[in-house]
Amino acid sequence: MAPLYAGIEAGGTKFVCAVASGPDDVRATVQFPTTSPEETIGRAMSFFREQDVAPAAAGIASFGPVDLDPRSPTFGYITSTPKPGWADTEILGAVRRGLGVPVGFETDVNGAALGENRWGAARGLDTFVYLTVGTGIGGGGMASGRLMHGLVHPEMGHMRLPHDWEADPFPGVCPYHGDCLEGLANGPALRARWGQSAETLGPEHPAWPLEARYLGLAVANLVCTLSPQRVILGGGVMQAPGLTSLVRGEVQRLLNGYVQAREILEDIDDYIVAPALGNRAGVLGAIALAEIAARETAGDPGS
Ligand code: ADP
Ligand code: ZN
Repeated sequence: MAPLYAGIEAGGTKFVCAVASGPDDVRATVQFPTTSPEETIGRAMSFFREQDVAPAAAGIASFGPVDLDPRSPTFGYITSTPKPGWADTEILGAVRRGLGVPVGFETDVNGAALGENRWGAARGLDTFVYLTVGTGIGGGGMASGRLMHGLVHPEMGHMRLPHDWEADPFPGVCPYHGDCLEGLANGPALRARWGQSAETLGPEHPAWPLEARYLGLAVANLVCTLSPQRVILGGGVMQAPGLTSLVRGEVQRLLNGYVQAREILEDIDDYIVAPALGNRAGVLGAIALAEIAARETAGDPGS
């Protein structure tokens, strides 16, 4: 029987926890709003302790910024977040002490990317990007088979884009940059620019071609810098009917035939795709992180 793992998708709005060995074997799930760190992490620990079977390992896919450097004294912390009460929260240590098992730790979007690599739209790929467009915009993925880390971790949501102030006088909502990608194109930017929430903007609304332009610019930049074998676009805003298709068109138009790959020139519907695990990518990614943590602890570097 496959061992069971504990997965935690630690979001700034809500936590989703699951006990599972994979997408077809989810034994229990729960979700609750993100309140104080003590209360929220405490609720997750109680949920796992209530289960009949103790997990073999745990995984956390966390909102950030997070410290992913194992040599750093604040490894496993949520660091400088503006979310009240959560700056300098030692989340990895709290879960390790709470459950007494090995714990894997990643950014929320790298976690979701790992889930897609293990069971979803990025199976068999070693270089791909996962971008989520919701309350924030975050990006991650793998390069040459490893989750992308470096100096810290990618902050694709904050890339700078050309902004035509005449066509779009909206200044953007990012507290750091104003009109970075996230500032121009997240859910709150749509609401602030158009005066109504993103889900109520009809399919013919001029919001969508503009949204597709910004997302298309971002994806074209990512294609040029990282050469991903596929780009996965998830998050609440991508639920808007027809938006993914508009983004595909923008990417082709912006690249203008320069990147000579059949995937982009002819097969873009299969190149820019939705997450195959849907909104379960994050928590299943946390399960995949647990699986790796268990394997590493057993001394097997795995495949
Ligand atoms: P979060 O980023 O908070 O984890 P989501 O990824 O669900 O959560 O993103 C929430 C954002 O997605 C909100 O700004 C909401 O307005 C927007 N959204 C949700 N559903 C839709 C939809 N069907 N069409 C367009 N926007 C949507
Ligand atoms: Zn920004």
